[in-house]
Amino acid sequence: MVKGTPSMGKYNKPQHIRCRRCGHRSFHKSKKRCAYCGYPSPKWRSYNWLNPKKR
Ligand SMILES: [Zn+2]
Repeated sequence: MVKGTPSMGKYNKPQHIRCRRCGHRSFHKSKKRCAYCGYPSPKWRSYNWLNPKKR
């Protein structure tokens, strides 16, 4: 009997490395794109749900 989630422990190899622009470890190695700021896109990744003031 397996307790918990069997798929746990399969993520030993991180796909995200340190992004040079935002500094987060969100730069995808194979996709070559930062999940946090969207690097190398010239515009920073943003969603309207990130800033609820502006809607
Ligand atoms: Zn970034």
